[in-house]
Amino acid sequence: MKLPATRKEALKLGIKFYKTNKPCKHGHNSKRYTSSKGCYECVKATWDESNQRKKDRYDKNWVQELLKRKNYVLKATYNMNFMDYRNIVASQNYKCPLCLKNETFMEDYQLRNKAKGYLGDLVVDHCHKSGKVRGALCQDCNRALGGFKDDINILSRAIEYLEERG
Ligand SMILES: [Zn+2]
Ligand SMILES: [Zn+2]
Repeated sequence: MKLPATRKEALKLGIKFYKTNKPCKHGHNSKRYTSSKGCYECVKATWDESNQRKKDRYDKNWVQELLKRKNYVLKATYNMNFMDYRNIVASQNYKCPLCLKNETFMEDYQLRNKAKGYLGDLVVDHCHKSGKVRGALCQDCNRALGGFKDDINILSRAIEYLEERG
């Protein structure tokens, strides 16, 4: 599709880009953003640079970056910090209280892929009604509870069912 030659036209048509034939001040003869008049290549270069900076920072201090992210998520979701989370896990003897599997913590296997669980792979479990944090569970048990809708009646029927039909 041929882009409109002026911003005015692009605005009228509701098109994201327009293309004059005047190069930007960095000499790119590329399309412009209708919203900001910004040169596409300049914007892209700025983005690439900022992503590279982020990546460099992460590569250099990835544990601190992980910790920052974890703190941010815990604060936003449960109004707790990483130490609160670690205290919960410690109070459970570093195990999932349901299946008793040990947590994964600071294990360096496949670090880059597993970084998510590097600072502890037990997930905070909370009551959806009261909002109260109940503990920290492994992913499987957390998902299982969700599957039973945190409903004691369904869970006890599931136990009966397994006992009777096993
Ligand atoms: Zn440019
Ligand atoms: Zn479990």
